[in-house]
Amino acid sequence: MMMTEGVSPVIEVVGLRKSYGELAAVDGLEFDVRRGEIVGLIGANGAGKTTTLQSLAGLLKPDEGLLKVCGRSVVNEAIEVKRLLAYIPDSNQPYDLLTVREHLTFVGLAYSVPRLEEKIDAVLEEVGLFEKRDQQASTLSRGMIQKLSLACALIWDPVAIVLDEPLTGLDPRGIRAMKDLIRMRAESGMAFLLSSHLLELVETICHRVLVVDRGKRIAFGSLAEIRASFDLPEKASMEDIYLAMTVSR
Ligand code: ATP
Repeated sequence: MMMTEGVSPVIEVVGLRKSYGELAAVDGLEFDVRRGEIVGLIGANGAGKTTTLQSLAGLLKPDEGLLKVCGRSVVNEAIEVKRLLAYIPDSNQPYDLLTVREHLTFVGLAYSVPRLEEKIDAVLEEVGLFEKRDQQASTLSRGMIQKLSLACALIWDPVAIVLDEPLTGLDPRGIRAMKDLIRMRAESGMAFLLSSHLLELVETICHRVLVVDRGKRIAFGSLAEIRASFDLPEKASMEDIYLAMTVSR
């Protein structure tokens, strides 16, 4: 287990609120993500996951609340935060006419990445796109586009990565590779916040899980902590826990 007690979190969210008209999509959410930690965000369709992630990424302006990345305010220090946190949505539209490698060159130059050429090769190997490096984005499959989105984040070494449904479109081998990659990057210190409906993913790779229901936090902790606080048996899986603590609507 990681020695993270007493270390200030990479991502810190306190009292986040965001409404769309009368609807409170996120209603007072609070959580943190530490260095080297993978936190999973789960909840029913419409529970407020994407709204939370987009608020953290600076794409949505929250109505209330404190959102910080490495102590910097997402709202008031937006540029600094853009150099710290990468957001990868569940479906990304690449530039059709650019090749895979050109995407990475473009992003790498924007972030002034040193020794960019070597870095591009290493990241392409890491995400499994090296063979496709000279292919135009318009010719990539959905899963390959997901990998390209991840590569465009890894190329500049963000401190934290926020992923909305990271396994969408990946084949079984791609799923395994994505899990391994996230784990390895976390071991080297990167912080991850990922939303998913795939409870097996959450159970196998996340250190802590945040369960949201109608914009509110209903649980936050390791699987063992959540089991204990809801008086669930030791063998209860993430799926058992989720079904026990949420009601169908
Ligand atoms: P899913 O699992 O289906 O992706 P989610 O947990 O990501 O859902 P959000 O997309 O954050 O949920 O949506 C939270 C609530 O806010 C939903 O009721 C949704 O209908 C509503 N909502 C989201 N975006 C808007 C918008 N632009 N205008 C109005 N309502 C919105």
